[in-house]
Amino acid sequence: MNTIIIKSKDDVLSEEDLKEAADILKCGGLVAFPTETVYGLGADGLNPKASIKIYEAKGRPSDNPLIIHIASLSQMDVIARDIPDEAYKLARVFWPGPLTIILNKKEIVPTETTGGLDTVAIRLPASKIARDLIEASGGYIAAPSANTSGRPSPTSARHVIEDLSGKIDMIIDGGKSTLGLESTIIDLSSSIPTILRPGSITKSMLENVIGQVEYDGVVLQRDMGEDMVPKAPGMKYRHYAPEGSLAIYEGSTEKVTKAINDKAKELINAGKSVGIIATEETKHFYKYGIIKVIGSRSDEDSIAAGLYGVLRDFDDIHVEYIFSESFEGDDLGQAIMNRLLKAAGYNLILVE
Ligand code: AMP
Ligand code: MG
Repeated sequence: MNTIIIKSKDDVLSEEDLKEAADILKCGGLVAFPTETVYGLGADGLNPKASIKIYEAKGRPSDNPLIIHIASLSQMDVIARDIPDEAYKLARVFWPGPLTIILNKKEIVPTETTGGLDTVAIRLPASKIARDLIEASGGYIAAPSANTSGRPSPTSARHVIEDLSGKIDMIIDGGKSTLGLESTIIDLSSSIPTILRPGSITKSMLENVIGQVEYDGVVLQRDMGEDMVPKAPGMKYRHYAPEGSLAIYEGSTEKVTKAINDKAKELINAGKSVGIIATEETKHFYKYGIIKVIGSRSDEDSIAAGLYGVLRDFDDIHVEYIFSESFEGDDLGQAIMNRLLKAAGYNLILVE
């Protein structure tokens, strides 16, 4: 398949491009588009055949449900039932934006889109291109991250091209994703609001609007925990993973940088290639391997935005071993660590 690639200017598409992209979606095709979180791979979420194409292009397990993206709040009522007040409250505060809400689904949503579940995940994205496209194509766009399943999520059109060129109809290039981490997912389909995936809308932000919120057990997991079954099916898969073996070192800056330097030196002497994920504050401590700066510790947003790009950069040069510092903290730090730990297969090393 020939994949059409179009570029947006200043977060808007020309009328012609918008129509072409929307027509593809209306006819059951696949269009990758930018959102403020990561790039999404869109298809008509109410058309089971179109949803199935997403799973094929990504190589995604069929029990991993898709998020339906909408362009206006009223569309939530069309695809969800038994909607609690909390959903409207959260939507009013955080939509458009990086929050996904899980609700009981209506008949109109095919189980092909929800991975066989009776619930549906819904998000109204902030990105203008995304919203224009969703609106122009009829309104209910299933869009998981536009990567090959298991690889780090795409935060630029180049990442999407690497994974999906030749497999989908169109890629819209809208520059770098501003947030760089997937949306926060909150489940409102059962009695206690539960965070299934942490993101830039944090637990305390949610609690300020609807009161007590819990984390699904796997969210705070720091080791393999074989017996934990996540409520978001997608969270159980090996995910975000680079090709190289990734280890995260945790402890004081001095001890972590020394431990990473020692390990990197040893591996390089043994003829291995090594990459190091450093921060602006620590980069000058490292002496060996290929050092890439993920962002600045004084600006957590920059670390979230840099994470997937750094992992993919190391894939591009096929390093065999990657070492990263740990990112502690509540809120956004938790979301960053959640992705990093999964990418590392929970290979966390505490240095005393
Ligand atoms: P992605 O769109 O690639 O960021 O992945 C979507 C995430 O949302 C996956 O982890 C899914 O398992 C999760 N998800 C989507 N729909 C549901 C649902 N109805 N119930 C629980 N988790 C869901
Ligand atoms: Mg994904």
